[in-house]
Order: sequence, then structure tokens, then C-alpha cells
Amino acid sequence: MKPSEVSAFLNRVVKRHPVEPEFHQAVAEVVHSVAPFIAANPRYRKARILERMVEPERVISFRVTWADRSGEVQVNRGHRVQMNSAIGPYKGGLRFHPDVTLGTLKFLAFEQTLKNSLTTLPMGGAKGGADFDPKGRTDEEVMRFCQAFMNELWRHIGPDTDVPAGDTGVSEREIGFLFGQYKKLRNAFGGVFTGKGIPWGGSHIRTEATGYGLIFFVEEMFRHVGASIIDKQIALSGSGNVAQFAAEKAMLMGAKVITWSDSSGFVHDPAGVDPQKLAFVKDLKERKRGRIKEYAEKFKCAYHAGKRPWGVKCDVALPCATQNEITGDDALALVKNGCRCVAEGANMPSTPEAVRVFLDKKILFGPGKAANAGGVAVSGLEMSQNSLRLSWTREEVEKRLSEIMTNIHRQCAQYEQRKGFVNYVNGANIAGFRKVAEAMLDQGLV
Ligand code: NDP
Repeated sequence: MKPSEVSAFLNRVVKRHPVEPEFHQAVAEVVHSVAPFIAANPRYRKARILERMVEPERVISFRVTWADRSGEVQVNRGHRVQMNSAIGPYKGGLRFHPDVTLGTLKFLAFEQTLKNSLTTLPMGGAKGGADFDPKGRTDEEVMRFCQAFMNELWRHIGPDTDVPAGDTGVSEREIGFLFGQYKKLRNAFGGVFTGKGIPWGGSHIRTEATGYGLIFFVEEMFRHVGASIIDKQIALSGSGNVAQFAAEKAMLMGAKVITWSDSSGFVHDPAGVDPQKLAFVKDLKERKRGRIKEYAEKFKCAYHAGKRPWGVKCDVALPCATQNEITGDDALALVKNGCRCVAEGANMPSTPEAVRVFLDKKILFGPGKAANAGGVAVSGLEMSQNSLRLSWTREEVEKRLSEIMTNIHRQCAQYEQRKGFVNYVNGANIAGFRKVAEAMLDQGLV
């Protein structure tokens, strides 16, 4: 594709999906990566694969009405974006957050399609959620909301159709309530969710998978250049699921984690996280649903209100909170301070300007669709275990996860390696795109 064709294509996407800047951003990144590959393979152009890939196969939007603890009626909006089912049933998380919009979910569903393809497992791409904020809600309110949400979603999902999972604001508690209501309405106990509790069909390591997989990917990137994660200083953002288990695995592999954050600010702990501090964060965020500021008070370290950790000197940066949390200026500050590796635990946490800085400076940069694919990979393994009606051991699942992350790394390096430098952005986009595109060609105009 010529540059003029790429711009015309992107203009059409903006026109067809107005007011969805994150979706435009995600599509632009992929299109720039795959344009030369498409030019070299005219059959993709002829079948208009790219045009079809950016158009969701189905979008469901619905009202969610429920009553809070004081009997007040609440009205939220739920969505499910079923993006692409060329290589398997739709698969992707649900996000409950006040900022959720259809545009955010479209961007996430598009990314998910390519990410799922990279895992080598048979999963299509989807994403869903609602503009519901679980913060400050009681367990009972969360249950009522989940039941009301499922009262509509159940008719659009199923083990061979669409298998949701958790994401921001949706963890095991919410999955339990959602699964319970699905089971009640459908009168069937099936593998319709991943991230389930172990006693009722969940997989070992699913909770840990995204964070652990991220660190396995970082280690692969270092290994590729003859280095290792051992003794590296790591600045990470977030203090939720991905951040906690990335910190745990990094610590176990001999690195030092020196920051945490949440949406209110970040803590800088130069002494490094240890098992006791990690247990404190897990309890703070999972049970007490508290603020990261309390970590700074408890362990006597600096807290920076309203700031992100990218000005801290580190070897590795792991953004594990949210989209567009590393700006171009943050990226320049990281590189100036000696950061050699950035791997995205969150989805699209680096702005396009930040990505350009990392690629120009030729540091190791692992984009989310490769680096954080461990979560969905273990979700795929959970689906396999449900179909087989058996449960693999912790060790077995972790070994498979590690092999999948190595395989994802190999696929990225296969497509985009020049003079020893791997452009993982192009590599992940091309490898993910190719498998979906081939399946779409095989299946005709559907
Ligand atoms: P959690 O809800 O467990 O944690 C999210 C963390 O990010 C919290 O610390 C939260 O702080 C912080 N955060 C949320 N919004 C903002 C914001 N606008 N600014 C600063 N900090 C913010 O989510 P996860 O850990 O599950 O997910 C984190 C990211 O990783 C998301 O982008 C998600 O899509 C991605 N991801 C998750 C996977 C998974 O398996 N869980 C799989 C692949 C990707 P606070 O407590 O203040 O809200």
C-alpha cells in the first residue's frame, strides 16, 4: 500500500467510526505495520481483508437497570464488541469502569483479535463492559449489577460462540456473579467464562498469567540480545492484577521493583518490593480496595500525588495501568534516565509519540499485544481444560504459558528483525494479522 492509500484508508476509518480516537490510534498503528506486507500479498487487497478486519462482526449495546443499596434506581450502559471470529469463538475481557465507551471497547477488541492470533490458540477477538464503577460499591451491589448486566448478555455468548473474561474492574468476584447468573438463565454449566474460580472450572495460573507472561516476554527480549532480567531495576505502573503478578515474577527472577501506582499517584520505593510488601499490596487492592498512598505510609517511602512513575531512574519500565499513560515526553525521560526495555502490561499504554521514541532509540520495546498476551493464553488453556473436563496442575499450566510467550517472541522476531534489532511492533502486527487474514480468505465472504 502506498502512503496515500494508507492515509485514505485511515480517513475512511475516522469517518465511519467518529469520536473514537483510541480505535483510530490502534488501527493506525496496525495499518502502518502491515501496509508493506499487504502490498507484497495482493490477494489480501483483493479480498479487502483490512477493511473487513476494522469492521466489527457484531456490536451489542444495551441498558443495564438495577437498584443500589438505598433502593435508588441506577441506569448503566453495557456493550459487547464481537470483532472477529475467523480463528475461533469470540474471546476477550469485560471492563467495568466509568470511562468505558464503545470506542474504547472497539480499540480493545481490535487489539485482542491480533493478540489472540499471536498466542497460537484458536480464539477470535472481542471485548465488552459497562460504564459501571465497582469502587465504593458493596459486594451485594456488585452482584446486582452483574446479574442485571447478564440478563441481556447471556443470549449473545456461549462456549462455542463468545467466551468473556475479566479486565479492569472485573476480577474473580465479578466473574463469579456473572457466571452464576448465566448458569441460572441458560440452565447449563459450561465453559462460558474464563478467569473462573478453581473449584468451578477455573485454571491454575489464570490470575497470575498476564503479569507472569509479561516477565517471561521481557526475559526473552533480554535473552535475544545476550542479557537477562536479573538485577534490573523495574519501574512499574498500576497496582492491580497485572502489576501485582508482574512484580511477583520479576522479584522471583532476581529483579528489583521500585514503583507502584494507582489513579491517584505513585510510590517510589528504592529499597525494592519484597514478599511482605507485595502481600500488603495484594491485600490493599484486592480485599480492602484501598489507595496505594497507604503503601508509602506503611513502608516509609515517597508518594507523588497525581503523578506517574516515568521520571524515576530504572532499567525496565512496565506500564500496567491503562491506555496512553506514557507520553512522548515520558518516553524521552525514561530513555534519558537509562531505561533499556519497555514492555506493555496494559493495553496501548504508550502514545504513538512514545512508541516512536522507543523505536528511534532502538531500546527493547514489547507492545501489549505480544507482551501481555499471557492472560488470554491461559484463558485459552482454561477453555481447553473445560472442553476436556480436566484440570492441569499449576506447574503444567505455567510451563505451557512460558512456552507460549517464547513462541510469541519467536513469531515477532521472525517478521521484523534487521541487523539484530527486532521491531516488535511490526513483528507482532504482521504475525497476528497474517493468521487471521489467511483464515478469512479460506472462509470466503462471510
Ligand atoms: P486492575 O483493575 O486490576 O488494575 C488497574 C490498575 O490501574 C489499578 O492500579 C488502577 O488504579 C490503575 N488505573 C486504572 N485507570 C487508571 C488511570 N486512568 N490512571 C492511572 N492509573 C489507572 O486491572 P488489570 O491489572 O487487570 O489491567 C490493567 C491493564 O492491563 C488494562 O489496560 C488491561 O486492559 C490490561 N490487561 C489486563 C489483562 C488481565 O488479565 N487482567 C490482560 C491483558 C491486558 P485504581 O485502583 O486507582 O483504579
